Amino acid sequence: MKTAVSSNGKPVAASYSAPAEAICPKCGGVVTLRVRRLMANSGNSYYWRHMDDDHPCERQKPFMRLRAA
Ligand SMILES: [Zn+2]
Repeated sequence: MKTAVSSNGKPVAASYSAPAEAICPKCGGVVTLRVRRLMANSGNSYYWRHMDDDHPCERQKPFMRLRAA
């Protein structure tokens, strides 16, 4: 994801200046800042990834969201 929540409750976008850890706004789990190196001259891509794979928010299947709506 691109935006998480910091320890003081404010949204924090993944970037070079973001903290190493933040909180997932969906499940409340800990997410860590990751960097994906892109092609030359494209810079780096920052994103948040769950520290623990056992989290409900991104495991939810699309059809389940449709059924709940
Ligand atoms: Zn989550």
